[in-house]
Amino acid sequence: MSTRYLLYTHTKANNFTSFIRNNIIYNVHNVPFTVYNRRFFSSIERKPLFDKILIANRGEIACRVMRTAKKLGVKTVAVYSEADRNALHVKMAYEAYLIGPAPSAESYLNINKIISAAKMSNSQAIHPGYGFLSENPNFAELLTKENITFIGPPASAIMSMGSKSESKDIMIAADVPVVPGYHGINQDPQFLKQKASEIGYPVLIKAIKGGGGKGMRIVNDPSEFDIQLESSKREAMKSFGDDQVLIEKYLLTPRHVEVQVFADMQGNVVHLFERDCSVQRRHQKILEEAPAPGLSDEIRMELGAKAVAAAKAVNYVGAGTVEFIMDNVDKKFYFMEMNTRLQVEHPVTEMVTSTDLVQWQLEVASGNPLPATQKDLRLEGHAFEARIYAENPANNFLPDTGPLLHLRTPSPSPNVRIETGFEQGDEINVHYDPMIAKLVVKGQNRTEALGILKRALNGYEVVGLNTNIEFLKSVVSHDAFIAGEVETGFIAKHNEELFRSKETPPHVIIQASLSLILSELQNITNENISPFDPFSPWTSLPFSRLNTNHVQTIRFYDDKEGDINVKMRFNNDNSFDITIVRGGLNPIVFKSVLGSWNEAEQQIIAEIENHRVKSHVILEKNSKVVIFDNVSKRVLKIPEPSYLQSKLADVAGSIKTPMPCKISQVFVKPGQIVEKGAPLVVLEAMKMEHLIKSPTTGKVEKIFYNVGDFVEENKNLVNIVVEN
Ligand code: ADP
Ligand code: ADP
Ligand code: MG
Repeated sequence: MSTRYLLYTHTKANNFTSFIRNNIIYNVHNVPFTVYNRRFFSSIERKPLFDKILIANRGEIACRVMRTAKKLGVKTVAVYSEADRNALHVKMAYEAYLIGPAPSAESYLNINKIISAAKMSNSQAIHPGYGFLSENPNFAELLTKENITFIGPPASAIMSMGSKSESKDIMIAADVPVVPGYHGINQDPQFLKQKASEIGYPVLIKAIKGGGGKGMRIVNDPSEFDIQLESSKREAMKSFGDDQVLIEKYLLTPRHVEVQVFADMQGNVVHLFERDCSVQRRHQKILEEAPAPGLSDEIRMELGAKAVAAAKAVNYVGAGTVEFIMDNVDKKFYFMEMNTRLQVEHPVTEMVTSTDLVQWQLEVASGNPLPATQKDLRLEGHAFEARIYAENPANNFLPDTGPLLHLRTPSPSPNVRIETGFEQGDEINVHYDPMIAKLVVKGQNRTEALGILKRALNGYEVVGLNTNIEFLKSVVSHDAFIAGEVETGFIAKHNEELFRSKETPPHVIIQASLSLILSELQNITNENISPFDPFSPWTSLPFSRLNTNHVQTIRFYDDKEGDINVKMRFNNDNSFDITIVRGGLNPIVFKSVLGSWNEAEQQIIAEIENHRVKSHVILEKNSKVVIFDNVSKRVLKIPEPSYLQSKLADVAGSIKTPMPCKISQVFVKPGQIVEKGAPLVVLEAMKMEHLIKSPTTGKVEKIFYNVGDFVEENKNLVNIVVEN
């Protein structure tokens, strides 16, 4: 096939110059780009897109939709809860409406408020994103009545696919394979048990109205059946208000393989190939890729054809995903369910098909035909998505909340996409999904894409709450994952290797110690100190001026290892001799270590035994040092310095500074009577605050310094006289 190049200027959007090769338009930034066919260009009857749309969602998906809308010249309206006043999706929107308090039920699920925001803003259409109202047939129907376009499928398709049993019936009629099992209306326990035996154990009980893994029970043999059935029905009733169940064969080493489909109002349906989403925890996806590894082209085409048949069977319109479960051994696949919306993991498909699926949604919702035919669509390269969650993998992946105190992401490029709705300083709270971001990468093949993913994960830094980033790194470095041996039980199967922890390497401990000392010194002297800077030789260093002890001991606490003590001896040539002492091991000594701290970049550069290393270091006041060394995140806790207390105990009457420091607060005045333990002064040192308490009951006689003063070690701070 010959390659055609032609120059083209996109007029409706922002006049960017693009070129076309093999029917694909590339814009100057390369992403997102769109497949176009000749029909798309030649059709003079193509309707214009909307002037303005409302996005009934938050977080990354709201931002994602707005980006495409902006590109196409469509104005965007955001809705937000009280908790989201400063959220990125609100800042990005052309216009925004407050719709209620933080809980979703009172805001993002509040249909009336959302519709009135759409009317007030004259929005012609609503994009529901995923979650929230995206698969609510009543919402879709109500919008139609209000003459607002729902950017999604017809309510009837959402309804048919919302029931796991009805959808199975539709699929069987359309000749799409379903998991062997029983999904009829007879709910008699004895009858269901009989069916289970016919299907053959193990079986899976599922709530027909189920979702999110709720109501699912594995039954290994007949003796467990009754009890599991009861428990499934109980959970189903509680979660979905309907306790009907179906029974199906439980596949032992299955993969989750799903197909992206798209349909327009003219009756055209295409598939955009498959995604593998097998790596899951708690039946929820964390790593997705396209194409699925190890599939033959024959099976790929079969999957696509069955997915298209499934969409046609429900007169589908818009973006949808047909989920299949695939037996890893015989590669037989079975329909599981259809998700009638844009999926979280849609970007991996965009990366390998060079499409912008949100643009496709807008085209279809405007009444235009699909931008491409099946023939135009090609699979190129390999893409991964890693979902970055606020959660604690070590504690059963339970969600975590907290502020994003420090956030640094890898640089975006045509091969690295970061989809997020958060910025540094934002908070992940209990009201919404704990997903912080999606990291999406592309390579020419799986190996290259995996390399890019690893590197990007290494450059993703989050401080302030627990994330799964370190866990994702161990998954993508695991031999089985590298070999493409994915299955839904991947995490359970490789649990031990995935959670194996390594002790903190000495170079990390050294970098943490140097960061503390050098940043502190810079704070006090306001001088940039670097042995690597020819104009700032360490000979001019203010150590001597400060009258510091030439040996300083730093204590860390590591959750796994316990206490780590670091003895830092400052040498005349501006280097340090550093001794690391930890739990039962022989001390390790590193001679003549050099260090340079860059406050603006929060970066330490060290030379340790002729090896130069550099890391980002985040010093969290009073509590910990976090180091990103380009491979992993390490946290070293700082225990409350006990020597501080013991020094104070010696000096009732005259309280001295335990270290070089800055006075940040003074609580008392001369003449004041204080109790033993009363707060006197807060000092700031080593990026930490230390509260100095009165060692005795008595009267404050004199305070030697004011707030803001820098004080050397062992100076009189406060005098207290004991009165009889
Ligand atoms: P939900 O509606 O809760 O998402 P699904 O039917 O999509 O429920 O199933 C969720 C997950 O459960 C799948 O991705 C797969 O990991 C597992 N699963 C579902 N059905 C089976 C089955 N028959 N055998 C083995 N695992 C299954
Ligand atoms: P680049 O992003 O261009 O690779 P970097 O500054 O990240 O540049 O790193 C340059 C080189 O130094 C890389 O080869 C990297 O592996 C190495 N490097 C970076 N940080 C450290 C560190 N903390 N310890 C050891 N080697 C490092
Ligand atoms: Mg599902």
